[in-house]
Amino acid sequence: MKVDVAENLRRIRDELPADVRLVAVSKYHPNAYLMDAYDAGQRIFGESHVQELSQKAASLPKDIQWHFIGHLQTNKVKYIAPYISMIEAVDSIKLLKEINRQAEKCERVIDVLLELHIAEEETKYGFTPEACQQLLADDEWRHLSHIRICGLMMMASNVNDEEQIRQEMLTAYHLFNELKTAYFSKTDAFCERSWGMSHDYPIALKCGSTLVRVGTAIFGERVY
Ligand SMILES: *Cc1c(COP(=O)(O)O)cnc(C)c1O
Repeated sequence: MKVDVAENLRRIRDELPADVRLVAVSKYHPNAYLMDAYDAGQRIFGESHVQELSQKAASLPKDIQWHFIGHLQTNKVKYIAPYISMIEAVDSIKLLKEINRQAEKCERVIDVLLELHIAEEETKYGFTPEACQQLLADDEWRHLSHIRICGLMMMASNVNDEEQIRQEMLTAYHLFNELKTAYFSKTDAFCERSWGMSHDYPIALKCGSTLVRVGTAIFGERVY
């Protein structure tokens, strides 16, 4: 049966408070699916592979705001720097500096989120809360004038235990508040908390999320 993208979007949007934005995670899905979402009013799309994103961005409408949500290799930043709307998963100072360098070449400022590693899985990228605090305590990031740190991103553990998911998201939420007070109290742009995917966005909405990244619940199962 064909996936009713517009209907799925409508249902999910109905659940979102006005101050939460939806990132439609379209990785591995064909352009036709993205256009169904676009025609239903969706403008923020999330992709996690540079080559796939490049092809989609070249052929789809120019008012789409692309969020890069996957692990980004430093040598690939240059391909997306000209147009990317937000890089959500910054997981090292090295990557942050390379984004800054490429953004400067493009004469723009790129919005980024710092990715936290809170989940139990070892394979996930991201800063531990301590490493994230250390990054901000070191002054290096302040000299990067072509990036703007807009908040935090995380993926909760892929488990059925809702209480565990909730605890992980609350850990991220509390860290956000600490960092906001310590480093960004005068920076309105530091306002995004990106957590919640298809299976756990209802929990994320209760844990301070401002950006939910939903793929499967909109587009159906991905075909790899
Ligand atoms: C794929 C992906 C999502 C969306 O996952 P679904 O379970 O399909 O909603 C969200 N965030 C990240 C970082 C992803 O890689």
